[in-house]
Amino acid sequence: MIPINLIRQYTFCPRIVYYNLLTNIKPSFPRQVSLGSDYHILQEKLSVNRKFKKLNIQYSEVILEKYIENEKLNICGIVDLALLSDDEVTPIEFKFVDSKKPSYSHVLQLYGYGILLSEKYNKDFKRAFISYSNNMKIFKIEITRKIEEDFFNVLSKIVKIVDANMLPESSADEKKCSQCEYLNYCDDRF
Ligand code: SF4
Repeated sequence: MIPINLIRQYTFCPRIVYYNLLTNIKPSFPRQVSLGSDYHILQEKLSVNRKFKKLNIQYSEVILEKYIENEKLNICGIVDLALLSDDEVTPIEFKFVDSKKPSYSHVLQLYGYGILLSEKYNKDFKRAFISYSNNMKIFKIEITRKIEEDFFNVLSKIVKIVDANMLPESSADEKKCSQCEYLNYCDDRF
């Protein structure tokens, strides 16, 4: 089963999918990652008492840190936070990242969590929300056909990497590679 977080990783570099799913390499992550994890735990605690008034949606249940898998779609993941109403699921992400607007890789990742929730609870999935730690502004994402198609397109590419069991080509540039935890293992890089 493909973990949803690899959708975002694939868009950064397809090789990360290979290292992650097909090798035993355990990279050491930079301090930023552990800070992100702390931030994540903090947001989860805060969410217990949040009312989400800014989102302006009706909901009857809050989902926190829930593992969901779907055999038919061949995907799984831990949903950090989602609101459930009678007929709709709405995933929400708080990212420990500076960003002025939602990145498309984060949108695709959110789509993955949304579709997992939608299938599990048999409810519509039409929108999601994302917030970045630099300003805490909450962005609404309307789910479109293109987002759906792009998500499943990336998913099929990940499955191909797993089936081929070979290190894929990568167009990652120096900027990406220099911040990548797998740099030591990519011999064809500077
Ligand atoms: S070092 Fe570069 S090519 Fe290798 S996995 Fe990381 S981003 Fe991809």
